[in-house]
Amino acid sequence: MSTSPSPAPAHIQAIAPYQAGKPIEELAREFGLDPESIIKLASNENPLGCSEQVREALRQAVVSMQGRYPDPNGFELKAAIAARHGVPADWITLGNGSNDLLELASLAFLDEGTSSVYAQYAFVVYRLATQARGARHLMVPARDYGHDLDAMAEAIAEDTRLVFIANPNNPTGTHHPATAIEAFLERVQARHGGRVRVLLDEAYDDYLDPAERFDSAQWVRRYPNLIVTRTLSKAYGLAGLRVGYALAQAETTDLLNRVRQPFNVNSLAQVAACAALADQDFLRQTYALNRAGRERLSQAFGALGLEFVPSSANFVLVRVGDAARINRALLERGIIVRPVGGDGLPEHLRVSVGLPEENERFIRALTDILAA
Ligand SMILES: *Cc1c(COP(=O)(O)O)cnc(C)c1O
Repeated sequence: MSTSPSPAPAHIQAIAPYQAGKPIEELAREFGLDPESIIKLASNENPLGCSEQVREALRQAVVSMQGRYPDPNGFELKAAIAARHGVPADWITLGNGSNDLLELASLAFLDEGTSSVYAQYAFVVYRLATQARGARHLMVPARDYGHDLDAMAEAIAEDTRLVFIANPNNPTGTHHPATAIEAFLERVQARHGGRVRVLLDEAYDDYLDPAERFDSAQWVRRYPNLIVTRTLSKAYGLAGLRVGYALAQAETTDLLNRVRQPFNVNSLAQVAACAALADQDFLRQTYALNRAGRERLSQAFGALGLEFVPSSANFVLVRVGDAARINRALLERGIIVRPVGGDGLPEHLRVSVGLPEENERFIRALTDILAA
C-alpha cells in the first residue's frame, strides 16, 4: 500500500500559482509557428534588450569566470547603488530580482498571527508572499484602478506588519504623485510608528516623466519603517539575470539580510548590474522609446473605441471585452500579450510597449480581430 505524503498546510494549498507571460518557444511549439515570427508583449521586458556595455562586461566576466561563489555582500554593486542614491551601503539589500525582496520582507515581518495590506489589482506577488507566510491579507478595493491610499491607511489593523504599495502599479499602470505617497507615509508613521512597515515597490520608476520622479531615498532617511524596492529587470533590460535591490535604514536592512540566502545574486548578475547602472544613455533611450510607444498604443486604443487606463509604466491595460477570445486570436497570429483574469480583470489585456514595428503589428492584428 502506498502512503501519500502528508498534505501541505492549508495556507499553502490555498495559493494559486503565479501565471507568467507565455514564453515564445512554448507558443511556437503549441501553434507550430516560427519562433522568429512571434512577438512577446507580455512581461514588461525592455524591447531594446540590454545595454551594449552590459554585453561587453558579461563577455569579459564569462572569459575570466572561476568556480567561486559570488560575493555574498555584493560589494561593488552596493557601492554603485549607494553612490546613485546617496545612502550608506548598509541600507541596501540585494535581491534575485526585486521579487526576492518582496519575499524577504514577508519572511522578516509576517507570520501566522499578522496581516498585510495591499490594494485590489496590485502586483499579484503581494498576495502570494503573504499567503506563503500564513498571514491574513487585507485587500483594499481599488479606486479608478489605482490604490485608494486613504482606505489603505484606514485598513491597517492591530496585527498589520506590512503594507505593499506599487508605484507605478502593475498590471494597471496607475501612479500616485510623490505628495500622496508622502502623506500616506506620514500618516502611517504618526499612527503606528515602527510597528507597520511600508514596502514601496518602484519597479517602473524609470518610466515616469522626469517631472513626476522623486528620489525616494529621501523618504528612507525620514521614515525608519520604509522599504523601497527597485529592479533592473524592466528599464535596464536584465529580466533574465535577476537583480533588484531594497533601500531601508540599517535596522530593517539587517532583518532582511537575516532571511536572505547568502548567495542570492549570482556573479554574472552582479557584473551586469554594475555595467547597467553605469549606462544612463541606454536608460534615456529606453525612456524615449517607451514614451512614444505608450502614446501610440493609447492613441490606437482610443481610435478603436476601447477603454484603457492611462499608464505611467511600460505597458497599457486595455478593456477588450471577451479577453479570452481576443487573446486566443492574438496567439494564433503569433502575438503574446497578458490576460489578467487572475488579477480580477477578466475583460482586460495588459500589453507591454514593444519596438515601433511590434506595436504596429499588434495594433493591426487587434484591429482585424475586433472587426471580424
Ligand atoms: C516586474 C515587477 C517586479 C519584480 O520584478 P523582478 O524581475 O523580480 O525584479 C516587482 N514589482 C512589480 C510591480 C513588477 O511589475
